[in-house]
Amino acid sequence: MSNLSPRALTPSGEKTIQPTIRLEDVHKTYDLGEVKVNALRGVSLEIRRGEFVAVMGASGSGKSTLMNILGCLDKPTRGRYYLDGQDVSALTKNELAKIRNQRIGFVFQQFNLLARTSALENVELPTIYAGVPIQEREKRARESLELVGLADRAEHYPSQLSGGQQQRVAIARALVNGPSILLADEPTGNLDSRTSVEIMEILQKLNKEKGLTVVMVTHEADIAQYAQRALEFRDGKMRRDVAVQKRLIAAEVLPTLPSVDADGVEVLGKNADGKGSAKGPAISTD
Ligand code: ADP
Ligand code: MG
Repeated sequence: MSNLSPRALTPSGEKTIQPTIRLEDVHKTYDLGEVKVNALRGVSLEIRRGEFVAVMGASGSGKSTLMNILGCLDKPTRGRYYLDGQDVSALTKNELAKIRNQRIGFVFQQFNLLARTSALENVELPTIYAGVPIQEREKRARESLELVGLADRAEHYPSQLSGGQQQRVAIARALVNGPSILLADEPTGNLDSRTSVEIMEILQKLNKEKGLTVVMVTHEADIAQYAQRALEFRDGKMRRDVAVQKRLIAAEVLPTLPSVDADGVEVLGKNADGKGSAKGPAISTD
């Protein structure tokens, strides 16, 4: 994969000592004038390169606030955030934007694709901000789409894709600048259970084969089973940090699940509910 930077190519299994993410006593307070919301109340944690971590917890427990800080979309009110050893809590907005663009990929529950824009153009967008030469952009975007098994859907618009396919486009977009960290905030929140496992298959493959560090928010215990490690948040604090027992491997689970559409016909137009994606990702499952 030529569009992933060397940072992301650490072979899985290779041990690096320095954590890629380190939070020290991070607090986040939203100041709404009259009211102050303490969304994070002293979070310390380390995530090593190449880990696949699930972040769990009830609604309002601070998961998205944590992801925004990890992704340099927001800064801690107090405490330190070291990204690959660099203290990013003190950087300016422009410096944070640069880090975000180069090193971090985001995936959201709502896909957040531009509607009047093809899959290919959606995926190309971050390469424009990154200053990738115009001749390179399409090539990289196509490579990214191929990674998520959607090379043959490049010219489709989001409305012509199922929910699972739209999320795969969003993953391709997150990968296009070769990040070393993928942050996914409830990536399966809008998807049916089979499609959710298909998304897990892609994330597990990227994690294993590209050494991508994956941090994924989910409130579904069965989805967290696909991670290696689970963090549980409650009231802005991390209450649990455990290794996942009996980790599930999506490529093994998928054949045991019924197909949404057994004859393999793609149902176009029925996207909102995430149904209609009968095909698994075209990437191999080693
Ligand atoms: P989760 O993702 O676990 O549901 P959030 O991190 O979104 O939790 O929210 C944690 C707390 O912070 C909640 O009480 C929420 O209402 C509050 N909050 C989140 N974002 C903002 C914001 N931009 N402004 C004010 N309060 C916020
Ligand atoms: Mg949230």
